[in-house]
Amino acid sequence: MSDNQLRIVWIYPDLLSTYGDQGNALVVERRARQRGLDVARLDVRSDQQIPTSGDIYLIGGGEDRPQRLAAERLRRDGGLHRAVENGAIVFSVCAGYQILGHEFINDLGQREPGLGLLDVVSTRGEGARCVGDVLADIDPRLGLPPLTGFENHQGVTHLGPTARALSQVRFGNGNGTGDGTEGAYNDTVFGTYMHGPVLARNPQIADLLLKLALDVNALPPTDDRWYEALRNERIAAAQQPA
Ligand code: GLN
Repeated sequence: MSDNQLRIVWIYPDLLSTYGDQGNALVVERRARQRGLDVARLDVRSDQQIPTSGDIYLIGGGEDRPQRLAAERLRRDGGLHRAVENGAIVFSVCAGYQILGHEFINDLGQREPGLGLLDVVSTRGEGARCVGDVLADIDPRLGLPPLTGFENHQGVTHLGPTARALSQVRFGNGNGTGDGTEGAYNDTVFGTYMHGPVLARNPQIADLLLKLALDVNALPPTDDRWYEALRNERIAAAQQPA
C-alpha cells in the first residue's frame, strides 16, 4: 500500500457481475473504512485501462459471452499481470476465476486463453450444471471458518501442481472435478466458484485480503452480527437435503 491509501479495483462491472458479486467490492470497501483506512474504490469498465497501482482487485462471475470478451480485453490490457508482479491481491469469482487460469472453454466451444495468474485449467463439464448452496472447509493454512456460498457454473476447474485448493466441500460441487476441491489460490491470487456475494457471507475472507494488502497479522474487530446471521442462515440452507 503506497501513500497510506488502500486502492480497491473492481474489474469490469459491465461484463462480470452476476448474482450480486458487486457486493464483494462493497464489503471490502466497508470493512476497510470501519478500520479507519483511507480507501479509494475504482470501478474499471471494460473500455478502460486496468490501473496497475491497486492493492486489491476483485473480479466477479459472468455469462459465457461476456466472459470471453472480458478475457480478451484483460489479455490485451496486461495491467492485471503488472499489478500482481507489484504484489497486488486478486480475488475472483466463477467466470473471473476461470479467466485467471491458463484457459477455459468459451461460448463458441473453443479453448480460450486465460491470464495464467492461477495454475488452473477449466474445461466444460459434461454433466448437469453445478447449481446450489455450498459449504466447504477452507485450507487450514489460511485459518478461516467454513466457506459458504452458492454455485452456478458449467465449467470444471482442474488444479495444476502449484495451485492450492481454497477449500474442500462438505456440500456442493466446487471445482466439479469429483475430488471435493473448491476454488484455488497461488500466493496472493484467489479464485472461487462461490457467489452470495461470497465476501458478505464470509467477511473473514475480506479481512484476509485486507491483512495481505496491509501486511499485518490482525485487524481491529468489527460488529459482525449481521454477517453471522446471514452465514448461519445460509449454512443451514446448504445442509438441507435438495
Ligand atoms: N460461464 C461460466 C460457467 O458456466 C461461469 C459462470 C458464472 O460466472 N456464473 O462455468
